[in-house]
Amino acid sequence: YRYWETKEVKTTCAYCGVGCQMNLVVKDNRVVEVQPAKGAANEGLLCVKGRFAHDFIHHPDRLTQPLIRKNGTLVPVQWEEAFSVIINKVEEVKQGYGAEAIAGFSSARITNEENYLMNKLMRGAIGTNHIDHCARLCHASTVAGLATTLGSGAMTNPMADVRQANLIFITGSNTTEAHPVMGAYIRQAQKQGSKIIVADPRAIELAEDADLFLQIYPGSSVALSNAMIHVILEEGLENTAFIHQQTEGFDSLKASVKKCTPEWAADICQVPAEDIRQAARMYASSGASSIIYSMGITQHVNGTENVMSLSNLALVTGNIGKPGTGVNPLRGQNNVQGACDMGALPIVMTGYQKIDAAETRKKFQEAWGVQLPENKGLTVTEAIPAAAEDTVKMLYITGENPMVSDPDTQHVKKGLEKAFLVVQDIFLTETAALADVVLPAAAFAEKEGTFTNTERRVQRVRKAVPPPGEAKPDWWILSQLLKGFGLEANYSGAEAIFEEIRQVTPSYAGISYERIEKEGLSWPCPTAEHPGTPILHQGSIARGAGLFKPVEWKASPELGLKDYGQVLTTGRILYHFHTRTMTDKSEGINQIAPHNYVEIHPALAASKGIKNGDEVMVTSPRGRITVKAMVTERVEEGVLFVPFHWGNGANVLTNGEILDPYCKIPGLKVSAVNIEKA
Ligand code: SF4
Repeated sequence: YRYWETKEVKTTCAYCGVGCQMNLVVKDNRVVEVQPAKGAANEGLLCVKGRFAHDFIHHPDRLTQPLIRKNGTLVPVQWEEAFSVIINKVEEVKQGYGAEAIAGFSSARITNEENYLMNKLMRGAIGTNHIDHCARLCHASTVAGLATTLGSGAMTNPMADVRQANLIFITGSNTTEAHPVMGAYIRQAQKQGSKIIVADPRAIELAEDADLFLQIYPGSSVALSNAMIHVILEEGLENTAFIHQQTEGFDSLKASVKKCTPEWAADICQVPAEDIRQAARMYASSGASSIIYSMGITQHVNGTENVMSLSNLALVTGNIGKPGTGVNPLRGQNNVQGACDMGALPIVMTGYQKIDAAETRKKFQEAWGVQLPENKGLTVTEAIPAAAEDTVKMLYITGENPMVSDPDTQHVKKGLEKAFLVVQDIFLTETAALADVVLPAAAFAEKEGTFTNTERRVQRVRKAVPPPGEAKPDWWILSQLLKGFGLEANYSGAEAIFEEIRQVTPSYAGISYERIEKEGLSWPCPTAEHPGTPILHQGSIARGAGLFKPVEWKASPELGLKDYGQVLTTGRILYHFHTRTMTDKSEGINQIAPHNYVEIHPALAASKGIKNGDEVMVTSPRGRITVKAMVTERVEEGVLFVPFHWGNGANVLTNGEILDPYCKIPGLKVSAVNIEKA
């Protein structure tokens, strides 16, 4: 194309939580190229997905018309018919079983404005708190853990701030593949002299030139943190002034880690005790240490305690509330932070205002003109089993694909098939294919709105091209339904919805489209004059005093299961995103990463007669998959790794039954399995 025939529209990447700014180059209503744009989050960088994986926008498989299942087949219908089927079904289920028989999943893929309306639809129009989204499967344990210990469940420091750290402790985050631009900041920090510790069951890219690599056994993070705190206290490396002035509960923490010697942890983590001592000394004495973590910490049946144990580590050394420090969870999807902020969670409204607080309900009841339910709602991980058991009769899923992303796929399928299922998405995903009603949504390049990235930065999403066929922005679809249920929803556009959000959400009250036009703003931003809050807990911990939460290491129930000889862990790869609904539409990406695989150590492969590229069967108590073997020393002998992106893949094997008691996240990172040649 000729550049003078094009226009550029600046927007926010729709893949990971880094929130890179990009220019969509548009010619004849088509996105013909993506170029990096300068933004506070990405400083002009983009990764391979952001730069090259946009074929999905104009892909012929896009949904272009509402579909309704008639005689077993999905057939195209007009919007009016689809809306009336949904509204009638909601009324029928409510009459027969009450609003509690309906659950909705909002989405980390849609805008803040759309998440807000999904919240309004489920709670305000339908009358249930059964609203949740895929944060339940990624950072629910972060929200539960850090809200308890620090008073805010979000990333404490901005991403680029990691360059101010003298020591970066990366645990359970394959940063260069899952959050590549953040990975670039870590590389820059390393070049400038920051030391790096990596703790991970796999020898990830960052481990190759880390100053210390702890190849820990899956599920052993609490033991590692406790032993590091043990060493810190034993060697007098704690920050006594900080503990005294800004924390509470230190004595019980001290008592709880007394027995957690490095030798004790070495057995559990399967790393040398001396390395644990070394890690503790490096972390405690650098002057500014930053913890970076992700799903290797959170996706465990003790995920919340994993997070709390990292918080203990930061508090005991005073590594919080300053540049180059902090407890920094990297959120997975582009707007998973925003979906949480907008109250797409069963126990809170926008800005984490608790639904069981009378003043919260009063505020929203007055704003929305409705009565709100009081009881605690179901999580994603509870609602799908409830559908399988027939207590949830209707599921409304927006922009999520539990048939690939959720544990124990066979059980998920049972639930989705049993319930009356509405799916709103841009493609006929594995989940949408099971639906009774499918609503075609606009993609990120086809609508206005905002996303909130992992560092709490609210940034603009801008319309570059029209949606295909009859597809509509999610906010339009949801406002039509709200009107159908008799609620006030005459929004002129996304900005009008954002203005409503500001009125009811103190942490967003000072943010406006005008203010975020250039750079975005990080919440909390309570007034129009407030500059936003890039670093949380500066001066004082949001909770008042940082709370030490003693946590005990417990073995995963999946470990040591009779008849299962290996442990499976799952994760992401650079080229694909989440359930591949978008990245598998890019030919170039598929050429590089065409199929699923399992990483297996050469010694285990040799003992099973498995060679690189062989078809192998991996079996767990939940099911069996057949994939290609990748023989590699990246994993230890008893550990296997399967990326979670493919359908009929890793999550066929994972356990959806045993959940973290605090936040109901499943233990996706530890599954008992066997591997054999197919
Ligand atoms: Fe998009 Fe994340 Fe890549 Fe940035 S790092 S371009 S936000 S996928």
